[in-house]
Amino acid sequence: MPELPEVETVARGLSRGIRGDAIASVWIGSKPEPLKSPASEIASTLEGAGILGARRVGKHVVIDLDIALKKRGSRPTRATAQFVVHLGMTGRLLIASAGAEIAPHTHLIARLESGRELRFVDPRRFGRLSVATDEFQAVGAEPLDVGFELFAGLFRKRNTPIKSALLNQKLLSGIGNIYADESLFRAGIRPLRRAGSLTLAQLRRLYDSVQEVLKQAIAAGGSSVSDYVDASGNRGFFQFEHRVYGHEGDPCTACATPIKRIVIAGRSAHYCPKCQK
Ligand SMILES: [Zn+2]
Repeated sequence: MPELPEVETVARGLSRGIRGDAIASVWIGSKPEPLKSPASEIASTLEGAGILGARRVGKHVVIDLDIALKKRGSRPTRATAQFVVHLGMTGRLLIASAGAEIAPHTHLIARLESGRELRFVDPRRFGRLSVATDEFQAVGAEPLDVGFELFAGLFRKRNTPIKSALLNQKLLSGIGNIYADESLFRAGIRPLRRAGSLTLAQLRRLYDSVQEVLKQAIAAGGSSVSDYVDASGNRGFFQFEHRVYGHEGDPCTACATPIKRIVIAGRSAHYCPKCQK
């Protein structure tokens, strides 16, 4: 499942690729699952809109649209709208040339005035497409912007394992299994530790680790563990930097103890039983 670094990579690639372009027309497939807004509303918002850019909000890609032009003649209420995409498990947003073969499981094609197309492809259909006119906001705090005080406060008095707390999107937005495991390893904290039992020093290490891991992963273009690719179809490289995620039984990079895998609330967790306390 794409997490914060992968979504950030997709959003940056899209912004570079389609900023300044405009949407000429939209085709939407017949599968209902990906559509969080009605198809007619998505189509009417996107068609004729200028693309101002793309950015990440939590685990969502938000494409900012200029819809003032197409409202010429009528009285515009708002000049901007947003096309909000959640990639789910296997969703991809790709920039394609108009003649490129249409992949199976393509659910939306936005034909751009430049002649290219923005396509949403999602075999497993956990991704979601919607449009919004109010500023779209993630529920949880943004891990790369949150200050230490607020970060530490999220976990205070919380009785759940720290791993579950990191995955809770109402607390922090965008951290999933990979980056939770990798951050906890780098911070030397066991995934099963009660969040509320962490000392201030441990919270500080965790805060620093989360920031470091996310920034390194973004710099590497994200992790391609299953079929994740960016907007140009390129794989990320951060999977080669994973120290515990997906490394069950492998020797710890710090102490050579075999990495353990356990299940916490239905999600796997990987950790070094010696390095993480
Ligand atoms: Zn170790």
